[in-house]
Amino acid sequence: MSEKKKVTMDEIVSLCKRRGFIFPASEIYGGFANIFDYGPLGTALKNNIKNEWWKKFVISRDDMVGVDSAIIQNPKIWEASGHLSSFSDPLVECKKCHERYKVDNLLSKKDIDNSRQIAAEVASNWMNEEANRTQKIKKLEEEKENFSKYLKNKGWSLQTREEYLKHIVALEKKLENEYHESKKEAGAIKFLNNELKMKQYIGLVALVALRYLVDCNECGEKGDIWTLPKEFNLMFKTFVGSTQEEDSVAYMRPETAQGIFTNFKNVTQSTRVKVPFGIAQIGKAFRNEITPGNFIFRTLEFEQAEIEYFVENNNQTSQKHYKDWTDKTKKFFTDLGVKDENLSIREHDKDELSHYSIGTSDIEYEFPFGVSELAGIAQRIDFDLKQHEKFSGEDLKFKEEGKEPYIPYVVEPSFGITRALLAFLVDAFDRSDGSDGRADGEVTLRLHKKLAPIKVAVFPLMKKEGMADMAKEIVKTLKNQNIETYYDESGSVGKRYRRQDEIGTPWCITVDFDSLKKDDVTVRDRDTMKQERVKIVDLPKIILEKLK
Ligand SMILES: [Zn+2]
Repeated sequence: MSEKKKVTMDEIVSLCKRRGFIFPASEIYGGFANIFDYGPLGTALKNNIKNEWWKKFVISRDDMVGVDSAIIQNPKIWEASGHLSSFSDPLVECKKCHERYKVDNLLSKKDIDNSRQIAAEVASNWMNEEANRTQKIKKLEEEKENFSKYLKNKGWSLQTREEYLKHIVALEKKLENEYHESKKEAGAIKFLNNELKMKQYIGLVALVALRYLVDCNECGEKGDIWTLPKEFNLMFKTFVGSTQEEDSVAYMRPETAQGIFTNFKNVTQSTRVKVPFGIAQIGKAFRNEITPGNFIFRTLEFEQAEIEYFVENNNQTSQKHYKDWTDKTKKFFTDLGVKDENLSIREHDKDELSHYSIGTSDIEYEFPFGVSELAGIAQRIDFDLKQHEKFSGEDLKFKEEGKEPYIPYVVEPSFGITRALLAFLVDAFDRSDGSDGRADGEVTLRLHKKLAPIKVAVFPLMKKEGMADMAKEIVKTLKNQNIETYYDESGSVGKRYRRQDEIGTPWCITVDFDSLKKDDVTVRDRDTMKQERVKIVDLPKIILEKLK
């Protein structure tokens, strides 16, 4: 048997657009890069994912509570969390294809080793160049002064004044260029020195490596293709108040986690939670991503679901909960139908870890564009609460009877909801090869019944003879039970089945001639394509049972 062709991103994007899952944002204005809107089915699917997450991790447990914190917060939060400094990395852009890269990600150890030798040579050349430039600047400045003197001696006629202005403007332009070149290079090296001082290389070596050794991954261009490094802040800046003054700068949150930490005191004082316990939040976050792309995988605006799970302050306890949350995170996806073979757990190497983390794992999914992160579980120990204690001056210790107050450790499972949605779509996408009773090329979206945007579609076999009325009555009954139900009377029943298969509707109900006499209908299952006849009066019970 030949293996089925894997789904491509083009197929997913096209299905999303055609059937109303996801649209490019601002499309009637030509769109807006890497921003997307969710259509009727996408909205329902996203809500279902969030509901399942909230049910599983908050409602069904007695050690979890939720918060919904604001997107714009006191900017001090981002100082304390480290986002203001660590979210600004030196970036370079390929002059040809304009792809942007973190300098850090471009340089390999080999490049650095090789460039150390070249850097010495470049440094001496550069110093010579600088010396020449200083000479040139001196000469130009002298020339400017001499010219002024000369004109003063000659007197200020209209003609000399015009001549003067023309010459001075040209001279100043020349000077500016020289200054600028000199400042630009020196500035870039100083900048890289500052930004990369913790790393194994220094600014000049990094600059040399970029200039001489690193090709662009995106377009393959070689040689001197990089712009000078620039600072780039991943946080979206905004202004509070109607005047754009520096003291009113605020940021759109780059993660939901910090809104949990800053409410730690409020939550522990207003509820009866005891360690271990967790605070959960679902919400939007914003990042000026350097390399957004792959449809909704990496976008500037995205949705997260995060838990900060507070445990006793020792490594052993943290480790235990970390393992447990890693398993639970992966299970969330398999329980909702994602195939186990497409998921993997990747533990970060020591040198990959954030400075405060004592262990981080990613749950990865095999997307059409490669294996990429779907969720992450991190042991953040007491870093965040301690930072907020330091920056806010508030006591954020947990108080428990018979125990010294302490800052608990925290394990953080963090889910990308928009990424999860993409993974669910990719995993559910099934194009028939013609061997399963469907026609070759027909698409079935095998979404888990709990995620399917529409649970039941109801068709009258024909519009007349009272079948349509009967079908509409069924729709009304099911909707009254909060079951997402859809009525469709256009085209052949086969066509209507295919339309529902393509958007993942688990059951289709058909009202036919027999229904009118016997008060029963056929219920067709999306995956088995089997049909059963059931009494109309039993429908709500049967569907609710199936949805359990
Ligand atoms: Zn390029």
